[in-house]
Amino acid sequence: MANVLLVDDRPENLLALEGILEPLGQNLIEAHSGEDALRQLLRQDVAVILLDVQMPELDGFETARLIKQRERTSHVPIIFITAISKDEEQVFRGYSAGAVDYVFKPFNPQVLRSKVSVFIELHEKNEQLRRQAELLKEQELAELRRESEERYRFLAEAQPDQIWTAQPSGELDYVNQRALDYFDASFSELVKSGWTQVVHPEDLGRMLERWQEALGTGQPYDNELRLRRASDGSYRWHLTRAVAMTNRRGDVVKWFGSNTDIDDQKRAEEAQRFLVEAGAALAASLDYRQTLAAVAKLAVPRIADWSRVDMVVNDRLRTLAVEHVDPHKVELALELGRRYPESPDAQQGPPHVLRTGKSELASEISEERLAELATDDFHLGLVRELGFQSYMCVPLAVHGRVLGVISFVSAESGRRYGPEDLALAEDLSRRAGTAVENAQLYREVEERAQAARVLETVGDGVFLVDGAGIVRLWNRAAEGITGIRGDDIVGRRLEEALAGWEGISGNAETVPLERDGRERWISISAVSFDEGTVYAFHDITEERALEQIRQDLVATVSHELRTPLAAIYGSAVTLDRRDIELQRDVQAKLLNVIVEESARLTGIVNDLLLASQLDADRLDVQIGSCDARTLVEDVIAAARTHLPDGVQVALEPIAGDVPPVAADEAQLRQVLDNLLDNAVKYSPAGGDIRLTVEAADEAVRFAVADGGLGIPAVEQSRIFEKFYRLDPDMTRGIGGTGLGLYIARELVRRVNGRIWVEPNDEQGSIFYVEIPAVLQPESGPTHREEAAVRR
Ligand code: ADP
Repeated sequence: MANVLLVDDRPENLLALEGILEPLGQNLIEAHSGEDALRQLLRQDVAVILLDVQMPELDGFETARLIKQRERTSHVPIIFITAISKDEEQVFRGYSAGAVDYVFKPFNPQVLRSKVSVFIELHEKNEQLRRQAELLKEQELAELRRESEERYRFLAEAQPDQIWTAQPSGELDYVNQRALDYFDASFSELVKSGWTQVVHPEDLGRMLERWQEALGTGQPYDNELRLRRASDGSYRWHLTRAVAMTNRRGDVVKWFGSNTDIDDQKRAEEAQRFLVEAGAALAASLDYRQTLAAVAKLAVPRIADWSRVDMVVNDRLRTLAVEHVDPHKVELALELGRRYPESPDAQQGPPHVLRTGKSELASEISEERLAELATDDFHLGLVRELGFQSYMCVPLAVHGRVLGVISFVSAESGRRYGPEDLALAEDLSRRAGTAVENAQLYREVEERAQAARVLETVGDGVFLVDGAGIVRLWNRAAEGITGIRGDDIVGRRLEEALAGWEGISGNAETVPLERDGRERWISISAVSFDEGTVYAFHDITEERALEQIRQDLVATVSHELRTPLAAIYGSAVTLDRRDIELQRDVQAKLLNVIVEESARLTGIVNDLLLASQLDADRLDVQIGSCDARTLVEDVIAAARTHLPDGVQVALEPIAGDVPPVAADEAQLRQVLDNLLDNAVKYSPAGGDIRLTVEAADEAVRFAVADGGLGIPAVEQSRIFEKFYRLDPDMTRGIGGTGLGLYIARELVRRVNGRIWVEPNDEQGSIFYVEIPAVLQPESGPTHREEAAVRR
């Protein structure tokens, strides 16, 4: 049904027109003015317009002109209806305004109807043509669409990636052959199961979450996940991407997706990262056990579901670490190892790797292989429970020596090891080997450093001589004992530096050593080893001296004691004789011998006692002010009571004032007694002994000069040593213990004094003793005195 627009300002005219056109069965639209007509034309298409010419305001011509101006209505035929304008000009005006016809009132309804129906028919023809054209266009479009779809499918099939498309709901509607082959499923199977069956369980949650999000927002979907490859059951990493295609309104009409296999790249990256982390873990500890345990830990679950490190202990492999994410399974594996230890002759697995030093890779552990491995059914059951799928064992070697084996096993992850994995494992093992070596080196260095520290602190001299006879090490004690600095001897030949020492071998030998012009005695022993000889030594000079002293003491004292004892014994036995009558004076003499010799014995014993007290520094010293002159006079008086024939003692006249001395009076008297006794004793041919006392600086000097045997210059300091005697064997028949001068020196030292000996002019000796003076108060205290008083 077409629209026919009737335009007239008079309703009765409209009504009449409607009546005439009714039978045509078209849709008649009324317009009551030119404006109304224009409005109606905006709303709908019309086939023909019947337009009254004479209308107030916008007349028919004007209305027609406006209709013709509009593009949408310019082609619509207009029939003018008029009663008046029959003249030529009016008609011309109507045609030029776009009229196709004129109908003059009163008009013949039949003519009008037929005219209108011609225009309607024309309109319908046009409409039909237009619709046909549209249809044609649609068909062409559909064909085009089909073609383009086919093209992109071809494109999709030619891709190395898995390509798929999905409905806006996410349901798959196309999957390329490559994907179907990978999953070994038909399209319908894949649609039915969706992704859930093929995505790694660990990645599924994340994948669904992201996919749902993309479906909800229409934003691109991007994810990395593992997809199960049907051919071997392994999961390979894929990069999955999908973008939405939208229509003009922005609604998603299709998802285009692709899955790109990035497994190799991903594993390479992961391997790299793993090795970096492993490097850090390996460097973290210098305890190789900890290091290797760390490696085992690191490998799970990164490159294995199981990892195990075995080390060679006493030629056999011992498991050092087992790792699995589930501790319960670790227990199971350990139990398995205890119950069914691997035979060292096994043809596969760690023992085999240990024997051959070559890595082992089993991409797939078949049922037969498992059965081969198992000792019995129970064993097989346990092994099955662990679900081993694939394994690799690599030797852990340092400098070509296999120290252990690292094993990686895949189980629940379903991964299959290939040559790249083995290369990674070998790389890891190499790094572990280096770490173990470093740890060992460090330990050795530490031990050496420890040994060196010990060597530096031990009291014994220690030195090392290498195979070529060169001194390589010389410790601090060695420097101290010999006085030879390490810098001066290390690097030199031993025989040049210390002639005679190179011949030493084995147990302690005693060798002399010249040091500072004195002879020292060294006890040295040597131990040889592969790389040379280690010598240890210590200075036994003091010990030897002590030993000598001990021997001297025994010899001297026993002789010294024996002489008076023999005299006492002889006298007593004689007195006791009944067979002879002894004269009274003889009796008195014998008794006198007993008294004197007893006194001598007492003297010896007292000296021994005093010497030991001095040695132990236990002697009590009472320092006071003593008058030097009185002291010397008393000493001379006492000596005179038993002077042998031919000996005279005299005190030289004292010049000037002699100040009192700060000393222990009894001890100073003993010193002077001893010097005077010695002067008498060592003047066997008799002679004059002169004593002098004089003030000297802030001290008082005593001197005892004799013309006796004298003392050789080299012995002048030694005679003050304990038990030292110039004539130990008493070839001259003069006895003594060798203690007197030692005691004298020690007593003098304790009051800050000095004692020394000098040769007398022609013959004999002069012994000097200097004791600090007690100075007069007005002269003020001196250092020396202060020190003396403190003592
Ligand atoms: P002794 O008991 O042997 O006299 P001393 O310690 O008193 O011990 O003396 C040590 C040694 O010094 C003596 O054995 C002696 O050889 C020597 N000697 C000491 N005084 C004299 C002296 N006046 N003249 C010569 N030699 C002396």
